[in-house]
Amino acid sequence: MHTFEYLRPRDAAGAIPAQQSDGAKFIAGGTTLIDLMKLNVETPSRLIDINRLPLGKIEPTPDGGLKVGATVRNSDLAFHPNVQKDYAVLSQALLSGASAQLRNMATTAGNLLQRTRCVYFRDAAMACNKREPGTGCPAITGFNRTLAILGTSESCIATNPSDMCVALAALEATVHVQGAKGSRAVPIGEFHLLPGNTPHRETVLEPGDLITHVTLPPPVAGSKQLYLKLRDRASYEFALASAAVVLTIGGGSVTRARIAMGGVGTKPWRSPEAEAALVGQPANAATFGKAAEAALGGAKPQSQNAFKIELAKRCVTHALQTAAAS
Ligand SMILES: Cc1cc2nc3c(=O)[nH]c(=O)nc-3n(C[C@H](O)[C@H](O)[C@H](O)COP(=O)(O)OP(=O)(O)OC[C@H]3O[C@@H](n4cnc5c(N)ncnc54)[C@H](O)[C@@H]3O)c2cc1C
Ligand code: SF4
Repeated sequence: MHTFEYLRPRDAAGAIPAQQSDGAKFIAGGTTLIDLMKLNVETPSRLIDINRLPLGKIEPTPDGGLKVGATVRNSDLAFHPNVQKDYAVLSQALLSGASAQLRNMATTAGNLLQRTRCVYFRDAAMACNKREPGTGCPAITGFNRTLAILGTSESCIATNPSDMCVALAALEATVHVQGAKGSRAVPIGEFHLLPGNTPHRETVLEPGDLITHVTLPPPVAGSKQLYLKLRDRASYEFALASAAVVLTIGGGSVTRARIAMGGVGTKPWRSPEAEAALVGQPANAATFGKAAEAALGGAKPQSQNAFKIELAKRCVTHALQTAAAS
């Protein structure tokens, strides 16, 4: 492994200027970053450990929502009583990811910024536009079974691997960032970028930007929530397709719907098309099937992953049916 400077500031005032230099990176749980450093995919010259910053709390917000600190561990978030009661889809998504040991280390902000599992990205000997802009995308003609069918470009077809972010998309979370120019709040749907012809830019963060916390809006009374993850094996595996649904049903009809998908998009994929197909319609199998069709309407398969279209449709349909029946 290459050498790097290691800093452990106590506050954001110490951490933010330190991260503005070339090659500087924050480190939280380290479960993405250290992995990629061992593979020579990430080669930071300076690591700024943010674990001493006061960002580790889960607190109610004045409007009845929840504030989740950037260094809150995924396991603490998943088992928090307010999350289990009011944001069950988030708890389920977190518990479907990685392993218990990894979830004990992984943090809220680190999960938001985890990198793709595309095998070419993780192999420093291969070309990859995301790792080294302008070198090409071997996945388009190569191994792409696990990669994206929504939001792809001619430069990159990598899937966003996070489960947590799919639930955050369905819950309409907000990411709070503190940077050199002050603080700002970014809706989760605007936080991750589509690859376009700049796949190395994955989020709206600029050098020196520190994620301080994530907020969840007040819970929707009576909503039925579910995270369903389909994968090659039952645990310790990333999604081939997943669905986060937050449904409200009144008088037999869907009155409100928030639908997001994982494993199929280049970013956590909210589907306004599926939501529009649900609201005002009877909460039955026919409606749920139409919503799933709408969710995958824009899908563009690669050479090895056309199966994901049908898989994702079934995932959305089954998640809706199960949530509605709960
Ligand atoms: C074997 C394995 C299996 C996994 N399976 C799954 C799975 O099934 N589903 C899933 O969703 N995830 C899975 N993961 C990924 C895991 O969830 C992430 O590695 C983890 O969430 C990253 O959090 P971290 O705190 O360890 O991040 P780190 O590795 O510490 O950081 C990740 C990135 O975030 C940046 N960063 C961290 N905190 C901040 C901050 N506050 N502000 C700005 N930048 C910051 C770092 O600079 C770095 O670039 C798996 C990981 C492994 C190793
Ligand atoms: S899909 Fe993206 S991450 Fe994978 S090789 Fe192509 S450019 Fe790299």
